[in-house]
Amino acid sequence: MKFLDLFYLAAFSISPLSFATPATPEGLKPLDAGMDVLHYSIRRNSTFYSSLRDLGLDSPEIQKIVGAAREHFDLSKIMAGTEFSLFYAKQPLGRLMEMEFTLSPVKTMNLRRSPDGQWLSQVTELSSQTRWLSFSGRVSSSLWESADFAGMDPNLIGELADIFAWQIDFSREVRAGDRWRILVEQRHAGDKVIGWGRILAAEYEHAGQLHTAALLRGEAGESLGYFTPQGASLRRMFLKAPMKFGRISSRFQLRRFHPILKKTRPHKGVDYAAPIGTPVLAVGDGVVVQSGWLGGAGKAIRLRHNSMYQTSYKHLHGFASGVRVGARVRQGQVIGYVGTTGLSTGPHLHFELWDRGRYVDPLGRKFPSADPVPQKLLLGFQTQSQGWLARMPVWVNSDSELPRGPVFISAENGF
Ligand SMILES: [Zn+2]
Repeated sequence: MKFLDLFYLAAFSISPLSFATPATPEGLKPLDAGMDVLHYSIRRNSTFYSSLRDLGLDSPEIQKIVGAAREHFDLSKIMAGTEFSLFYAKQPLGRLMEMEFTLSPVKTMNLRRSPDGQWLSQVTELSSQTRWLSFSGRVSSSLWESADFAGMDPNLIGELADIFAWQIDFSREVRAGDRWRILVEQRHAGDKVIGWGRILAAEYEHAGQLHTAALLRGEAGESLGYFTPQGASLRRMFLKAPMKFGRISSRFQLRRFHPILKKTRPHKGVDYAAPIGTPVLAVGDGVVVQSGWLGGAGKAIRLRHNSMYQTSYKHLHGFASGVRVGARVRQGQVIGYVGTTGLSTGPHLHFELWDRGRYVDPLGRKFPSADPVPQKLLLGFQTQSQGWLARMPVWVNSDSELPRGPVFISAENGF
């Protein structure tokens, strides 16, 4: 490759040329430091072959590279968008010496030119471990903001909201002064974070009332859901709200002035204002009994949960795939998306609960708990949850005392 070609790529390709040393897997000798590295992404309608041609390699060279990789990975099948790094020597200037591919968060493949012009391949796999982290927060304006302040991944605050969906309606009950803390697993390989495991224990203090949850695992380590440390289920029959975050804009009332019809009509449901496209959740397991256009209700879904209860979801923008009459849905499943179809003044969900064919106020109901921890798992569960709860961060009373970012729970304490 000529210098000018390289310069062209550096100036006009995906990422700028920088100065780096490739990772040196065991078995391959370290290369001279200070090669030029190009981070390349395969463009639309391109293949690995055409990309390397564009990068100035000839066909026999490309064949050698593909051949060297074959025992680990078929490079002829990589797709547009795949990224890899190319390392170029300074002496002779611009000669491609090595390529590095990330096969998975823990797997890297290096291909390297040997002095005799052949290509060698090596795959290194980092061994991953699980560690425990804790986060804690205090709500001053919103749950999201408190998670952001704590330096916590927003996905985890979504999971926290899921765990306590039966205790707290996060769309209407979160208030300033609420506090939360969690203990969560993180998979890592050395310094490299691979992903989150499960939340092991979580607490949410709402209006002075503390809610505590611990994960129950089966014998194979699978999740069996969240329970109180005593072993009672956190599940009620229904979720307290049909979406994770949304604001109640109109409650169930028998006399309400209808903004479009301009007359007094009962409002036999609860309205949740939320942006178009916000996922709408089935509040309980059930069967779809209506799905489609329903006059002034616009696009609407009705679910039958059991012989007593049905729920309706109206003014939807659209339906989740598979949500048609006769389909079974699970509690918490996304069934549709908030919209403003039918007689509606703006994006919101109109949600109804029916008790034996009559509209009832969904906010005025209490439902029984689901099954507790099975007896044969109870002692182990109680012991384990006490251990987890003992490693939670301490409660604080002001933002200035809060840790920003995770607290690592050391192995000596806990594993
Ligand atoms: Zn409504």
